[in-house]
Amino acid sequence: MRGLIDSHLHTRLCGHATGTVQQYAAAAAARGLAGIAVTEHLPLPHELDPDRRLSMPPSRVEEYLGEIQEVRLARPDLEIITGIEADWLPDRVEETAAALSALRQRADGVKVVLGSVHFLGGWAFDDPNRLDEWGGRDVDQVWEDYTAEWCRAAKSGLFDVMAHPDLPKKFGHHPSGDVDGLYARFADVALTSGVMIEVSTAGLRKPVAELYPAAGLLRAFGEAGVPATLGSDAHSPDEVGFAFDEACDALRTAGYHAVTFATARCEKRSVAL
Ligand code: ZN
Ligand code: FE
Ligand code: FE
Ligand code: ZN
Repeated sequence: MRGLIDSHLHTRLCGHATGTVQQYAAAAAARGLAGIAVTEHLPLPHELDPDRRLSMPPSRVEEYLGEIQEVRLARPDLEIITGIEADWLPDRVEETAAALSALRQRADGVKVVLGSVHFLGGWAFDDPNRLDEWGGRDVDQVWEDYTAEWCRAAKSGLFDVMAHPDLPKKFGHHPSGDVDGLYARFADVALTSGVMIEVSTAGLRKPVAELYPAAGLLRAFGEAGVPATLGSDAHSPDEVGFAFDEACDALRTAGYHAVTFATARCEKRSVAL
C-alpha cells in the first residue's frame, strides 16, 4: 500500500530503544513507506524514571528536535514528522500540559502527541520488569482502573492520538466476561473528545500476539466513526512498518475505508485502504 506513515517509533534517546532518526528514515524508505512520525517518550518526572530507562532525559530534548529537523532537510523524499509520546499522569496534568504546549509552540516543535496510559498509580503495568506485580492484582479491576484513566486521558485535550488502546492485555491479561460495555466506553469517549486511535502492530511482537486494539474494540471505534492511525511502536529500525499489511486488513475488517495520519503541517491526511 502506498502513502502509509509509521506514526509511532522510538530512538536510542529513551534508554530502551536503538537507532537514530536517520536509520529509521532509511529503513522506512526501504520498506516503501511515505514517512515516519518520530514519537520519543516525553521525559517522565524523576520519581517515575530515576534511571532514565523509560523516557528521554530532559537534557536531550534539544538534540531530539534538532536531529529530526536535520533528517527532514536531508530526506525530501520522506515525510518526517516531529512527534512525542506522553504519559497520562493524572496527578501531573498541569505539568504535562505545560511541557507539551512548550513543545508544540516552537517552529521546529511537536506536531503530533500520542497519549499513553502506561501507569496506574506508580505501577508501570506494561513494564516487563514489573510483571510480578500483576500477581497481586485482580485483572478485571486493573481493566476497570485502566479504562477510567484512558477515558480521562482522552478527554483531557492533551493528546491527538490514543496509543495502543488496550495495552493491559500485553502479557495476556484479558478482561473476563462480556467486553461490549467496556469497548463502548472507549469508543464513546474517543468520539466525543475528538482524538484519533492508534492501530499498533507492537502487540503482535508481545506475549499477547495480537494487534492493539483487539478486533472487537477496533470495530467499536470504527462503528462510532473514530479515525484510526497506524504505528509499529518500533524500538529499533528493523521494526519500522512492521506488519502494516495485517493492520490494514484488520482495519478493513472492522469497517474502516481509510487510515488517517497527522502530517508535518498539523493537518490530517486520509489514505484509502
Ligand atoms: Zn518505549
Ligand atoms: Fe506506549
Ligand atoms: Fe511507544
Ligand atoms: Zn508505546
